[in-house]
Amino acid sequence: MLYACDNCHYLFLRTSEDTCPDCGKAMIRPATSEEQEEYKNRENENLWTEDSNSCRV
Ligand SMILES: [Zn+2]
Repeated sequence: MLYACDNCHYLFLRTSEDTCPDCGKAMIRPATSEEQEEYKNRENENLWTEDSNSCRV
């Protein structure tokens, strides 16, 4: 399940802790469907970036 942090808006998959892995605050909540889409899109962008980087190097 995907979670979102209300403090820094970081999106992440559930960890063993109840705090945000980015800012450390315990202000996490289940991500909305919109945020889940955003997370998926961002993953695709990251793959793209890694791909273009490896081509350049
Ligand atoms: Zn956070």
